[in-house]
Amino acid sequence: MPESLNAEHQQLAATCAEFAQQVLLCASSDNPAATRADVRSAAKAAGLFAMTQPESFGGTAAGQLALCVARETLASFNPPYMDAVFGPSPGVLAQVEEPLRSTHLTPLLAGEKRGSFGFTEADDAPAPTSGVIEGSNLRVNGQKSYVTGGAEADFINTLVHIEGRGPSMVVIDTASEGVIIEKKFVSLDGSHHAIITFKDVSVPVAHIIGEAGKGMPRAMRQIGDTRLLFAAQACGYMIWVVNLLNQHLLAPDKSGNPRGNLDVIRLRYADLRIKTYAARSMLYRTARLADQGENIVNEAMACKVFATEAIGELVDTAIQLVGGSALVEDHPLAVLYRQVRAWRLAEGASDVLRLNIGRGILELGKGRL
Ligand SMILES: Cc1cc2nc3c(=O)[nH]c(=O)nc-3n(C[C@H](O)[C@H](O)[C@H](O)COP(=O)(O)OP(=O)(O)OC[C@H]3O[C@@H](n4cnc5c(N)ncnc54)[C@H](O)[C@@H]3O)c2cc1C
Repeated sequence: MPESLNAEHQQLAATCAEFAQQVLLCASSDNPAATRADVRSAAKAAGLFAMTQPESFGGTAAGQLALCVARETLASFNPPYMDAVFGPSPGVLAQVEEPLRSTHLTPLLAGEKRGSFGFTEADDAPAPTSGVIEGSNLRVNGQKSYVTGGAEADFINTLVHIEGRGPSMVVIDTASEGVIIEKKFVSLDGSHHAIITFKDVSVPVAHIIGEAGKGMPRAMRQIGDTRLLFAAQACGYMIWVVNLLNQHLLAPDKSGNPRGNLDVIRLRYADLRIKTYAARSMLYRTARLADQGENIVNEAMACKVFATEAIGELVDTAIQLVGGSALVEDHPLAVLYRQVRAWRLAEGASDVLRLNIGRGILELGKGRL
């Protein structure tokens, strides 16, 4: 439970609260690139940046509970530049051997190279992205339809169906001949993506991450690891929304009475508090299970579905209760509304995760209540 944190996690929460208030909320919006660099330096000094990085690379490799405490606490202030607080994590490159360790993982963790993740294919793709091994090279053809940061990345960790081996994760350098940025686009939350085509791209076989044919579990592990963190950030935003509404409902309306005096308003508000309580309870229970070494694949999916749907409902209802001023483009509720909408699709659409949870218990006997 959020209440029974040990001294170390309580200290972490206090550090994050101070960081959000004194660094992120005070950050200038004049020069975002320079501000991001300042935030990164401050996050390194505060010990937050290294939490997502392995100890063998100078990181502190925080556990799931610590990461959830940190993300939830930061998000509970709804600050800008949260994406600059934590250092790049290895993702699918975790425990990769040479040469990829030196050529890609080390510069990724040092912030010298940018990586991206090519998994999703267009609905109308004639065939999945595929590769054929020819001597010491792999020839890759296909297209990935939603590569976040793909246009700015140095390499793309790409799911490729290798002939005779099966789905494999492959590092493809974006400077390679035949890597074509087909289209750049921005999603509702403001993040940047690209459609990327691979046309007879020649990739060294040494760029296959881990064992060929074992790419799907590796890719799913990366996606799975991020699901609990989405839930943690959503929980933080829920705290921010209920606190904002609390103030709004205690303030008087035109009649001079507190807005929250009306039962119909209290009912709506209570629903949001119930959802927040449930989401946080799930999150902390699951993070503790993860730190005990338990398999939390199903529970992390449950947390992600519940928390991302709940934050969507909270922001939507909060806008309704605050009124038209909350729909002004730069109102924090309007900004948050756009930001959290993507989360019901990114890292697994809600209904697809529901199906996986159903399959987990009915076909594999996995999943807790
Ligand atoms: C902000 C953002 C960032 C993203 N970043 C990346 C990235 O870096 N790399 C990457 O590879 N992808 C990325 N994606 C893509 C994301 O992974 C997909 O959008 C997501 O997995 C859903 O796939 P889809 O868009 O193809 O929709 P679909 O799979 O077509 O799903 C659409 C809807 O169809 C229904 N549906 C789909 N499958 C089933 C099924 N089996 N049974 C029943 N109903 C079903 C569900 O209702 C679902 O919501 C990103 C998406 C967003 C929004």
